[in-house]
Amino acid sequence: MVPPRASRSARAAYALLFLALFVPFSYFDHNDGWNQGVRIAQLHAIVLKHTIKIDAYHQITGDKAYIDGHYYSEKAPAMVVVALPSFALTVWFQKLLGVDPDQLPGWHVSEWVATVGSIGNLPRILENIALKRDDVSWGPNSTFRFPLHGGTGAIWQSVQQLLPAAQLHFDRAIARIDTRRRRIETKAGESIEYDALISTMPLDRLLTTIDGLDHLKAHAPRFVHSSSHIVGVGLSGAVPDALETKCWIYFPEPQVPFYRATVFSNYSPNNAPAGHWSLMAEVSESPQKPVELNAIVEEVVSAFARCGFVDRTNVVSRWHRRLEHGYPTPWLGRDEVLGEVEQALHAAGIYSRGRFGAWKYEVSNQDHSLMQGVEAVERILDGAAERTYNGDTTSDLTSARRL
Ligand SMILES: Cc1cc2nc3c(=O)[nH]c(=O)nc-3n(C[C@H](O)[C@H](O)[C@H](O)COP(=O)(O)OP(=O)(O)OC[C@H]3O[C@@H](n4cnc5c(N)ncnc54)[C@H](O)[C@@H]3O)c2cc1C
Repeated sequence: MVPPRASRSARAAYALLFLALFVPFSYFDHNDGWNQGVRIAQLHAIVLKHTIKIDAYHQITGDKAYIDGHYYSEKAPAMVVVALPSFALTVWFQKLLGVDPDQLPGWHVSEWVATVGSIGNLPRILENIALKRDDVSWGPNSTFRFPLHGGTGAIWQSVQQLLPAAQLHFDRAIARIDTRRRRIETKAGESIEYDALISTMPLDRLLTTIDGLDHLKAHAPRFVHSSSHIVGVGLSGAVPDALETKCWIYFPEPQVPFYRATVFSNYSPNNAPAGHWSLMAEVSESPQKPVELNAIVEEVVSAFARCGFVDRTNVVSRWHRRLEHGYPTPWLGRDEVLGEVEQALHAAGIYSRGRFGAWKYEVSNQDHSLMQGVEAVERILDGAAERTYNGDTTSDLTSARRL
């Protein structure tokens, strides 16, 4: 029998009641007791240490059992199970940004998201358990298009072909921007005048390149970012069964050096030569999470082997590149700094846009970065409002549009 649906006014009352409880619940910090502490300790132990023993965290709680020289939670496990997805995702995101989840402020952030997220996820988790369903395909990029030939770069090469070739210039590093004369100087000594300038170089670098807005230079060291190491491995043979249907896999735990592994050869049969397949790892680096430059490729290959992804004897090629600017890390006070900088740059005819131009993690994927450029041009020409730069990701070309 289908249960009767609640009336509209009853549903509105339930929603209001939920919000009246949920908002104060999520506002306050819940980490000041042993009861909460042991659950947070258990989450850290499971995700970061791969054990249910809370030895590394037992000091934050008295609600623990001591058995055979080890500490354990003495709580029923349901709350931890419910909080696990939100906690693991937050810790993964912190790993991507090079933030240590066992230190402040990383500890507080994951604790808050796990507490609040567990309530939000509860209905979905219960539904998945009841329907015996794996929750594998979610997020804005659960479906995506990819070029059959040429990899990711083929997208941008085809965009480039739509533009007049005579007006495209490459390899001209900008050395100085004179905002009073609206003139750019390249490192090679050329001088180029502009009416409006859209810059995608990292904003911290832009601020130190500009003459005429010297009061902004002091902001440059405040822009927080992580660096990225990209490690590619080519392998002979066929992709293992376990990876056959995978595009990318997330790794929150610190024992694995990378936060994401991508099976690029699954994206298109042309991404690897016949009889071969490939894996790519992304490793984050920050002052909190240093990386040994000369050892990282070997560490990645060893981790691939430990995870059971590769047999070392099949490795035929290795590739490594370090990007100083990997991810623009959000930080407290970011929006105030960005607001002041944006106002002064706009007055000088400069639009700093794109991943590190805007320095907004939330709109810094390729589709967002492209739309930031498109919308900046529309603003310059027609005075149209910029949507993506201001945090609205529903522009036609962003991945928020379902394929
Ligand atoms: C590890 C990693 C994984 C990613 N994964 C994805 C993904 O899966 N999906 C996705 O959509 N996006 C992904 N991205 C993001 C994607 O790479 C960016 O969104 C995109 O490259 C941003 O384009 P952009 O033009 O804004 O900036 P960039 O591509 O960074 O271009 C900025 C340009 O400015 C140039 N420059 C800097 N200084 C100067 C100067 N003084 N003079 C002249 N030029 C200068 C640089 O050389 C660079 O070419 C990833 C990024 C990283 C680092």
